[in-house]
Amino acid sequence: MSDCLFCKIITGEIPSKKIYEDEDVFAFYDIAPQAPIHFLVVPKTHIAHVMDLKENQVELMGKMLFCAQNIAKDLGLENSGARFVFNCKESAGQTVWHIHLHVLGGRDFEWPPG
Ligand code: 5GP
Ligand code: ZN
Repeated sequence: MSDCLFCKIITGEIPSKKIYEDEDVFAFYDIAPQAPIHFLVVPKTHIAHVMDLKENQVELMGKMLFCAQNIAKDLGLENSGARFVFNCKESAGQTVWHIHLHVLGGRDFEWPPG
């Protein structure tokens, strides 16, 4: 999608601190980290948010989560754990409308969230 920030990060038109890339997913550090470790995993195909997911994208979402798990382990979060988050649309505070999985770690988190 031509005017989407994360589509531009995926193509490299906008630079990012890339962690991982394959044919389906792209992972990079968040520009405004909310924890000592904060990265995002996105699908290369443009999907606006969780409410737009289609049944034929179920496997892709599993791949995103598994990618997030692998990176979290590589970054030393396996024992402590981490927060895995999808913000969806306005009430959740979604600001970039290309679906993304936040992974935050390296500190403790409150529940319920604010
Ligand atoms: P949302 O609020 O939509 O769930 O999360 C969007 C995230 O994208 C935010 O955490 C924000 O810091 C991050 N972000 C926004 N613009 C950029 C950018 O240009 N580069 C990177 N790496 N992250 C960004
Ligand atoms: Zn996009």
